[in-house]
This record gives sequence, C-alpha cells and structure tokens, in this order.
Amino acid sequence: MTRSFADRHIGPDTNELDRILDTVGVGSMGELAARAVPASILDAVGETGLDVLPPAVSEHDALTELAALAHSNTVATSMIGLGYYDTLTPPVLVRNLLENPAWYTAYTPYQPEISQGRLEALLNFQTMVSDLTGMEVANASMLDEATAAAEAMTLLQRANRKSTSQRLLVDTDLFPQTRTVLTTRAEPLGITLVEADLSSGELPEGDFFGVVLQTPGASGRIADPAAVIAAAHDRGALVAVGADLLALTLITPPGDLGADVCFGTTQRFGVPLGFGGPHAGYLAVRTAHARQLPGRLVGVSVDADGDRAYRLALQTREQHIRREKATSNICTAQVLLAIVAAMYASYHGADGLRAIARRVHGHAERLAGGLGDAVVHERFFDTVLVSVPGGAEAVVAKAKGRGINLRLVDADHVSVACDEATTEAQVAIVLECFGAGGMPETAALPSIETRTSAYLTHPAFTRYHTETAMLRYLRQLSDKDIALDRSMIPLGSCTMKLNATAEMEPITWPGFARLHPYAPVEDTPGMLRVIEDLEHWLAAVTGYDRVSLQPNAGSQGEYVGLLAIRRYHLDRGDTHRDTCLIPSSAHGTNAASAAMAGLRVEVVKCRDNGDVDLDDLRAKIADHADRLACIMITYPSTHGVYEHEVAELCALVHDAGGQVYVDGANLNALVGLARPGRFGGDVSHLNLHKTFCIPHGGGGPGVGPVAVRDHLAPYLPGDPLQPDSHAVSAARYGSASILPITWAYIRMMGADGLRRATLTAIASANYLARRLDPHFPVLYTGENGMVAHECILDLREITKRTGVTVDDVAKRLADYGFHAPTMSFPVAGTLMVEPTESENLEELDAFADAMIAIKGEIDEVAAGTWPVEQSPLRGAPHTAAALVGDWNYPYSRETAVYPLGVHSRRAKVWPAVRRIDGAFGDRNLVCSCPPLEAYTD
Ligand SMILES: *Cc1c(COP(=O)(O)O)cnc(C)c1O
Repeated sequence: MTRSFADRHIGPDTNELDRILDTVGVGSMGELAARAVPASILDAVGETGLDVLPPAVSEHDALTELAALAHSNTVATSMIGLGYYDTLTPPVLVRNLLENPAWYTAYTPYQPEISQGRLEALLNFQTMVSDLTGMEVANASMLDEATAAAEAMTLLQRANRKSTSQRLLVDTDLFPQTRTVLTTRAEPLGITLVEADLSSGELPEGDFFGVVLQTPGASGRIADPAAVIAAAHDRGALVAVGADLLALTLITPPGDLGADVCFGTTQRFGVPLGFGGPHAGYLAVRTAHARQLPGRLVGVSVDADGDRAYRLALQTREQHIRREKATSNICTAQVLLAIVAAMYASYHGADGLRAIARRVHGHAERLAGGLGDAVVHERFFDTVLVSVPGGAEAVVAKAKGRGINLRLVDADHVSVACDEATTEAQVAIVLECFGAGGMPETAALPSIETRTSAYLTHPAFTRYHTETAMLRYLRQLSDKDIALDRSMIPLGSCTMKLNATAEMEPITWPGFARLHPYAPVEDTPGMLRVIEDLEHWLAAVTGYDRVSLQPNAGSQGEYVGLLAIRRYHLDRGDTHRDTCLIPSSAHGTNAASAAMAGLRVEVVKCRDNGDVDLDDLRAKIADHADRLACIMITYPSTHGVYEHEVAELCALVHDAGGQVYVDGANLNALVGLARPGRFGGDVSHLNLHKTFCIPHGGGGPGVGPVAVRDHLAPYLPGDPLQPDSHAVSAARYGSASILPITWAYIRMMGADGLRRATLTAIASANYLARRLDPHFPVLYTGENGMVAHECILDLREITKRTGVTVDDVAKRLADYGFHAPTMSFPVAGTLMVEPTESENLEELDAFADAMIAIKGEIDEVAAGTWPVEQSPLRGAPHTAAALVGDWNYPYSRETAVYPLGVHSRRAKVWPAVRRIDGAFGDRNLVCSCPPLEAYTD
C-alpha cells in the first residue's frame, strides 16, 4: 500500500482509528459525524463545497508545483526600501533556527518552566531593542511596523492622562503604509490625525495628545527629532518615534533625545523580505509606561529553588482578564522572527552591526556622490531621494531592465535604498541608470554618526560571534523547551498539529523569501497565484464569497471583520448600530477587537450546559434593538461543543438587523463537515496557524484571513500604499511568505484528506474525553454526549477537595514529558485538551496514561499520603539539579522525575527550572538581560 500525504499527516492508522471509534462508541466516521455535528449544519458527503479543490498530490508533486510558482517570480535586486530591506540571514540561523522544528513548532511560552529557551531568546530581543533605541523597556514583538505605530498611538493616548485631546500629530515623512494603518485604526476610536511637516521642529496650532514621527523618514532624510520632542512636551503631548534599528547603530537614538515611545520593525536583522512578512515589529517605552505596553513582555523572576527564571510578565493573557478594557487585542505575535532578529544581533554583535550599517551607508554615500546636486537631502542613512524632473519613470524603467527595482516617488523623484545585500556593482548600475558618470571615492557630506551611547554590551551579544558558539547556543536553548518535536501539545483552542516538512521547505526559497512587498506585479506572478488559489480554496472551505489574507494574526482578522460590519452599517445609514454581543465564554481577543473597532460590548450569558443562553440573547436583542451591530460567536464554541441551536441564534440576530461574526479559530472541527458561511455567518476569521498547519513559532507568526459574504466584500482591507484603503497591515498580503505552507497542506490533503482530518480530530478528542472523564469529569458535551475537537476537564471539585490546582497538574505533566493543555480558558479551574488529528493512538494513550497517573497522585494527596504542599504535584516540575544534595520531600527522587519508572519508554524531558514565582517577577519588573555579574557567578 502506498501511503498518501494524508496518511502521514493523520496520526491514527485504520486499525488505531477502529479502536478509537470503538471506545467512542460509534461504528464509523459517518456515524461519528452524524452523532457529533448537528444535522441542521452538517453538509452531506459530496456537498461540502470542497469539490473546487484540486485532487490531492504527493509531497514531491506539491513541491514541484510550488517550485515552478517560485521560479515564475523575478527575484530582482530590491532598492525600493520603505521599511523593507534585503538582508543576509546567517546560514547558521536559517538551518538551526528558522528551519528548525525545535524552534518553529513551539507554542507561546505560557508554561514558562518548559519554555526557558525561547524566553531567554525573547529577553535578548527586548534587550536588543531597548539598547538600540535608547529606551528602557521593549516588548517581545508586534505584528509589523505599521501596527506597532498604531499601538504606539493608543499607548500615547492611554499614557497621557493629562491631555483630553483626541488629536494626534503625524509627520509627513512617515512611511505611507504606516500612515494608512494609523488612519484605519484612529477612525473608530474617534482619534483625528493631523498631518504636518515637522522637519523645522515647529508644531501646528492646537492641542495634541501625541506626536508620531519617523527617523530616518520615508524620504530617507535624517531630521533631528530633538526640537519636535521638546516642543511636543511643552505642549503636553507625548512623542513616539519610528526608527530603523540599523540606522540607530550610527545615529543618536530617540531614547537619548527624550522620546516617550519608539517603534519600528526588526526585519532587516536577518528576516527575509518574504513579500511583506512575517517580520517582528517592535515597541519600546520609558519605564513609566511599561505597564501600558501591549503584547508580550518577558520578565525575569525566580523559581522555587531561588534560581533565575524567565516568564511572561504583567499582561499575560491580558485580554482574558480585561477583555474590552484590554490595552490591545494582540495575542499571537511574531516570536520566531523576533528570535531570528535577536540572534542576528547576537551573532554580529555591536561591532558587526556597526560595520554593516557603515557599509550600507557607504553605498548610499557613493550614490549621492555620483548624483551630486540631484540628491534632495543632505543627511540620510541608506535611502537617497533623487530629483530627476520629468525623468523619474524613465530611470525606474531603465533600472528595471538591469534587474534592479527602484522606488518611483512621483514623476520627478526616484528613491534608492541600499541594504546589507547591496554591492558596489549594483550601485554602479544605478548610477548609470541615472546617467551619472563614474563613481567618486567619497562624497563631501556631513557624518551621520552622532550616536554616543553604548549598546549591546551584554554577554548575550558578545559571546556568540563564532558559528560553533552560535550553533551550540541555539541547541542549548531549544533543548530547554517542549515543542511538537518532543511531544504532543494538547492545547485546546490552539490546534497544535503537524507542520509537515514539505509544507515548510518553500518558505526560505528565494522565489518567495526575497520578494519586496511593493515589487512590481510582473515580478510576482507565482506568489500572487498562491494567494489567489488560497483565497479561492478558503472561501470554498468556509462557504463565504471573498477572503482577505491581509490580517497577520487571528486577532487582526477579528478586527477586520468587525470593521467591515461597522462600515456596512454606517454606509446604510445605520449609524446607531454600535453594539456587539459577545457570549461570556468568548476568547478575550473578541471583546478587545470589538472595542478597537469602536463597538460597545454586551455580554450574553451561557446556560449551565455551556451553550449560549438564547433567552438571554433574546432579551439582549430586545434591550439593544436599534443599536445591535452584531453578535460574535465561536463555533464550535470555546466549550468544545457544537451548539445545536446555532442556526436559530443566527436567525435571531439577522431578524434584528444585526450581523453574525463566527470566530473560526475552531475550524479544525468544521473543515469538510460544515461551513460557517452557509449556516448563518456573515464573516469569520480563520487561524492558518491553527487549522491550516502554519506552525506557532513559539508565539507567532500567524495568519488570520477574514472571509466574508458578498455584502461585506467592499469593506475588506486594500493596498496599504493607498491612504483610504482601510488596510490593517503594512503589507497588502500580510505575512505572505508563509502562505505556501497552507497552500501545500490543502494541495496535499485534497477534499477527502481534509474531511478525514476533521473527523479524526473529533474522534481523538472524544476518545480522550472517554478515557479521562472517569478521572477528570468532562465539563460540557453536546446533545449526544459528544464533544467536538476538544474537551474541557473540570478540576474545580478536585481543587476544592484536595487543594491540587490546575497549575499543579500542568507543571506535573512536564515531569511526565508533556506540555500542559490550555489552562483556565474558557473556564477557570479547568484544563482544555485538544489532541488534533496528527497524534497517533500511542501518543494519545501516553497522554491519557500520564493524566490518569497524575490523578493517582491526587488520590494520594486526598488519602493523606502527602500533604499537598509536600506532594510531587506541588513540587513539580523537578529539575536534574533538584536531585543533587539534600532531598527533603516525602516522596522519592524517582517519583519526582520518573513517575512512570526509570524504564518507561517515553523520552525524559528535563525542565530547566522549578516552579516559577510569577508575582515576584511582576513586583520586581526586569525586562532586559540580567546584568553582567549574573554571568560571572
Ligand atoms: C487563538 C484564538 C484567537 C486569536 O488568534 P490569534 O492568532 O492568537 O490572534 C481568537 N479566538 C479564539 C477562539 C482563539 O482560539
């Protein structure tokens, strides 16, 4: 029998599946579908909409097709700039980090004890950003530069408690895409953008809560922001400065000039262009604003043995706690790319980065020298703006003919950006295209090297300059973490499934990786084909009419969908429709996104069985009748159940003139079985990093496409270079370079494979529910006692009785070699388990056995064998170091670290640290690398 890709993607084979179905108590997959999924929404086989998908092909054939598409793209020399620069990723980082499943298959580090490797790498990222910008605290990554600017805008407003102004002053020399995203994000919040040329250092009249500028500017010019910062502070406004990190190795950083916030991208630190993404944006602030930072912040704390340990500080899962009052909706960030950038800085060190910056600047200087008076600005870093009255198009065309893309600014101006990959020969060609003569040795320009403060002096940036040292550092860090390459990661709602190597290979191919997002369309037919195919396929899978791939995380997709709803109502004159109903069980990002979209959140209750309470819904609809904009539900619900009344729910909202948003994070329970666009949804976002095999990267990248019915299609985001496009990302197709992953997945699975994957995911979840329910009761089930693709284990009774908490069980699982399930979402005191289709029966059973063994330990606590504080549960996780020296626990060392016996066949995971004290870290907030002394003792 030849195995198909689907056979390799799906864990259980036919025999195993029979045993799984047997335990679940159904005779076939068909019966499983009929029992689990409500008949009212279940598509008949052959009527799933998936017939538009091409038939499945093998890994080899899919890669051959993708290679042809990649080859059809023209990898020109890109000198377009505008925030995107070619970069030379050190091969040691390509192979051992970017292409290494130990790094790219990890989850967000919510379980810090088994995530110390990536937490350390992210702390290096934060240190790198705060050092280079001269700021005090940086977070661990934004989705891109433009969204970082948007987050800076709202942060300025939150932080500026003295100002009541709703006006934000924006410099004209901002990247156009940054300005567009600011415009999109400002409008629903009632913020007015005022644009002005701030290069003189003077501000226009009036009050502003904040000022946003950029250095170097979009035109390449380096203006000294000091005067603007001082004037803004005098006026009671706070200042955010966008800055290029490579330039900051030479020029005075915004932090040294008194800026309050600094933002930008870290793309050119080794992260391929990728047609626009994914790259890590950054955001850095003064200590006074640290608690206002959106997104993830890694902090230093201590573990139970008093050793240093890292964890996410402050706002971990902030949305779940603060919901519509959250500072931002960002959830999935850009962890993998942030780590690439940090390692790039570690590998080159301060001297290396400075040398790269000088080389880049040297190329720009030679260009300027050759172009003489045609150069518009005297002070620039890498980008030279050239005046060619009436001749700009001709120059750009000439360069295109020589394989170089320049930026056409207008009919009279061309801009040329140099980068790490630029060569002398290319500079010479560009000069020829401008009709300039030979290259002068030096240009008589003032030095831009004004920076006096030191940076990257920490050992993290001085110890790993050789390949051997870097290779071992990467290995040493990833060995501390549990990723999918070590065990299943049964995280409910997060769908941690196989990310096949064949899906991953294309993303570093130059034909996809080295495309500039604003490259001419004729350069990118293959990339655009991947995008078009995917839009088409995802529309078919979801039953919607149109798809936008622009949002670069699920939360961004939510935001786009809600904005579309808002604008739809406004266009119809329904200006009063501003209320978004959200069930109490919803993911926290839902409420946060609604608030960002200018909607009021009203919570709808859930019934005891976990379903949305339709009586409460009717009451809420009546209460808010005229103001109802939409409802935002998750389907199947975050309770892991297919609610049978979903069609009725949608009808109630539609009848009242509202729209239905279906959060598609749980699409792994629907693909090939039911389509939200057909059972009542008007709009959904999907998470390609959940259902469609893009790996989590340790907390990003992600892709959160939004799918809509026809009537909302006019409101999808457009080209960010167009000011009124309502774009939400800096690049038109968001994180385009990882789309081949999903393309390959769908291409290799085909309609049958996708449907089989969904059914297997449901079967496996129900199998675990059956096996674990006697030990940890399953909280919610649907009408036939079935769960969907995940199940919630209720520990609240156990905790009440024995004091053993979900934390104890989660940490103890690490001693057994497993990553914990999702903790306390959507219900506090529970664990949510999602096995996905990719785990075979052996792994499912190993997990169930570990959980059952842990229940045995809980029973020992209940029986008084160990007090809970002295139990292996509370002591978990146990490190190797903890075994050395005195042993003051009432259980043995063997019980601690080999709970199933030394000879149990499962590979031993040794957590790097003991249980981490989170509160200590929040009280003593340290968010950059610990000082030098920490390394000498
Ligand atoms: C993961 C998830 C989200 C958010 O997606 P991100 O990509 O992390 O922004 C939203 N809703 C639900 C139900 C989710 O599981």
